[in-house]
Amino acid sequence: MIKFDILTLFPEAFSGYFSQSILKKAQEKKLVKINIYNLRNFATDKHKTVDGYPYGGGAGMVLKIEPIFRGLVYILKKTKKIPQNKKKIILLSAKGKIFNQNIAKKLSKLEQIILICGHYEGVDERVKKFIDLELSIGKYVLTGGELPAMVIVDAVSRLIPGVIKKESLKEESFSKSLDYLEYPQYTRPEIFDPKKIVRDTKNLPKKFQKLKPLFVPKILLSGHHQKIKEWREKHSKKS
Ligand code: SAM
Repeated sequence: MIKFDILTLFPEAFSGYFSQSILKKAQEKKLVKINIYNLRNFATDKHKTVDGYPYGGGAGMVLKIEPIFRGLVYILKKTKKIPQNKKKIILLSAKGKIFNQNIAKKLSKLEQIILICGHYEGVDERVKKFIDLELSIGKYVLTGGELPAMVIVDAVSRLIPGVIKKESLKEESFSKSLDYLEYPQYTRPEIFDPKKIVRDTKNLPKKFQKLKPLFVPKILLSGHHQKIKEWREKHSKKS
């Protein structure tokens, strides 16, 4: 079981995604526990202030250090039984190390992952004194750390034994190395004829207009396991 504790200003952002499909089942099976903490509950002034203007001037607001620190202390005290070497505090940040499958694998060995979601212009730099890792999900800027937190919870959860079938993980992209890409996959029908679905294609993009019947590679229909294995090896790629 792995526990994710997420500190955010926007708790509702998570409910849809985490209550669907594989993550929903993982929680039901008690393989994953996800707790969402509203940062505003850790603000102590009468206006529940969580952000302030940046020192030195500039656009936007910066998340204050005190509510984040209080939130972390609250979560850490509540989960004090989890050994220190089995937990990590992660700040989501566009400036962080780029998240990848190898990091996901390492994180999946932990018992607790605490995720701090920034928003607006980001968080007070001094928060970095309390964290173990600063992670980015890519070289672009999002409005908040909520989507990155969901990305990390999702990528890590599916690596926890029992969440998805072991065989599904074996040959998928990045499983053998970060430049390994899985072979192409096909399912029924054997022949897909777009013209049978839509005859008048003139208002559709050019690609749709040119489409001819599409076939599944014959070898995959042969039932010849060794040949299928060889085809798949040949068609898996080094990116
Ligand atoms: N001012 C910051 C900068 O230039 O690096 C960007 C702040 S961003 C608008 C607000 C928050 O969204 C960040 O504090 C972080 O938590 C999150 N965020 C934005 N892009 C991200 C990314 N690529 N990966 C992870 N978190 C990101």
